[in-house]
Amino acid sequence: MGNGTMGTVRENLLKVKDRIAQAAGRVGKNPEDVKLVLVTKTIGLEQIREAIAAGVTTFGENYVQEARTKIEALGSTNTEWHFIGHLQTNKAKYAVRLFNLIHSVDSIKLARELDRRSGLEGRVVGCLIEVNLAGESSKFGADKNEVVDLAAEMTSLQHLSLRGLMTMPPYSEDPESSRPYFIALRTLKDQLERHQISLPELSMGMSADFEVAIDEGATMVRVGRAIFGERG
Ligand SMILES: *Cc1c(COP(=O)(O)O)cnc(C)c1O
Repeated sequence: MGNGTMGTVRENLLKVKDRIAQAAGRVGKNPEDVKLVLVTKTIGLEQIREAIAAGVTTFGENYVQEARTKIEALGSTNTEWHFIGHLQTNKAKYAVRLFNLIHSVDSIKLARELDRRSGLEGRVVGCLIEVNLAGESSKFGADKNEVVDLAAEMTSLQHLSLRGLMTMPPYSEDPESSRPYFIALRTLKDQLERHQISLPELSMGMSADFEVAIDEGATMVRVGRAIFGERG
C-alpha cells in the first residue's frame, strides 16, 4: 500500500466502500449491514473533514486525549466516535462522554468503572469485549476463556450496553492468516448465544483483511491505511 499510488480521501473511500459492498454481497448481506469505522489516529482535521464531506459518519480513535481534541475542534457534526484503543480505567470518565461505542473492554474492573461513570453522566455507553485470540502477551484483550463470564457480568450493568465482540489478529499483510481468528470470534459469539447472551456486533477486519472479516461475519470493519495511506 505505497503512498505513491494513493488517491484522494474521497477516491479511496469509494474504493473501500465498493470492496465492502462486494464482500457483503458474496455472503448475501446488504452493504449497509457492514459499518465502516474510519480509523483516524494520527490523521489531521483537514483529512477528517474531507471524509465527513464524503459522507463518513463513524470514526475510530485509539487515544482519549487525541480524540477529545479532534472532536472539540470539529464542533457539532453528524458524526459518532468509537474508541478502539486500550482504555485505562482512569480515562473511563472522559471515554463515556466522548464515545458512542467502546470496542476494547477487556476486564470487569474496566466495565464496572465505565458503568459507574456513564451512570453519573445519565447515559448508557455501548461496549464491545475485545478478545485476545492469539494469546499474544503484547496485546490487550480478554482471554477467550473469560469471555462468557465477563459478558454475563456486563449484561447485568445498567449503564452499559454490551453489543458484541472485537478482535485484532496478529499483524500480517496476508489476509488469509487472519481468517482463523475471525472464525474464532464468530464461534465465541455463537457460544454466548447458547448462554442466552445474544450480541449483534462483530468488530473485525482492518485495511489488510476486511474482506476476509466480512466473509466471516463482521458487522463493523475498522479501516485506516486503505483510506489515508500509511501513517507517518
Ligand atoms: C490502527 C487500527 C486499525 C486500523 O488499521 P489499518 O491497518 O490502518 O486499517 C483498526 N483497529 C485498531 C484497533 C487499530 O489500532
